[in-house]
Amino acid sequence: MLTKVFTTILAAALAWSPIVQAPTSLKLYIFDCGQLKSGNPDVLLARGVTTTDMSVAAYLIVHTRGTLLWDTGVIPDELIKPEGTIEARATVKKTLKGQLAEIGYKPSDITYLALSHNHYDHSANSNNFAGSTWLVQREERKAMFPDTPPAAPNTAAERFSALKNSKTTVLDGDYDVFGDGSVVIIATPGHTPGHQSLLVNLKKTGPIILSGDLYHYPAERTLKDFTPFAALGNPEQEKRSKIKVEAWLREKNAKLWIQHDIIAWQTLKKSPAYYE
Ligand SMILES: [Zn+2]
Repeated sequence: MLTKVFTTILAAALAWSPIVQAPTSLKLYIFDCGQLKSGNPDVLLARGVTTTDMSVAAYLIVHTRGTLLWDTGVIPDELIKPEGTIEARATVKKTLKGQLAEIGYKPSDITYLALSHNHYDHSANSNNFAGSTWLVQREERKAMFPDTPPAAPNTAAERFSALKNSKTTVLDGDYDVFGDGSVVIIATPGHTPGHQSLLVNLKKTGPIILSGDLYHYPAERTLKDFTPFAALGNPEQEKRSKIKVEAWLREKNAKLWIQHDIIAWQTLKKSPAYYE
């Protein structure tokens, strides 16, 4: 009985709480984390993708309740030489730490870390942010830290290994990061088991969805049968995630920023400039 009364009071209190406004100060910074050559350009060229190189980006979202770093680059900062560093298909000229410092942030200032997914070209500097609260889908964390660890972890796994002991919020789907609808993690499994995309509802710019690797090139959206990366993960799941995000884009009248789209990338403002 007492519980019922309490629940009723609580429900009434919630009903009377004012509508939370998106904070006016929400900012989105884009960091240049280099470029990546395509591993298999022929299938892309065959379908009319003439620019097969990809951009590599990381993003910082600054909210009154904290900061969120989205993705951490393709080559660790400590390997970046002043003239730039090439590792396999990647070329990187700027460190993530240096770009954060330029706008007044240290890794220890970052409240939340979220990776679109664990692949090497999104997670290289993750160990530097092990002090942040890690927002990760349950299935992604399982894939990154399996119960039976591989005898010899690959380079990517070494570069995110410290997250295992991070303060972690395990997610089972979409997640409103700051509790006011302005920054929402969208569960988009398929490319990896716990792949995620990110809605950032900016006041002046309007709503943006950061794709992660749901798409790599705009042609994957226009040519519905063109899924050159589906075989890396679960193609059926990826298809459902694409339908989900396309619906979000329509409903929220949002723009999709394909993180690896180097042509769109060239038109975007980079940090220290920002979107608001
Ligand atoms: Zn990628």
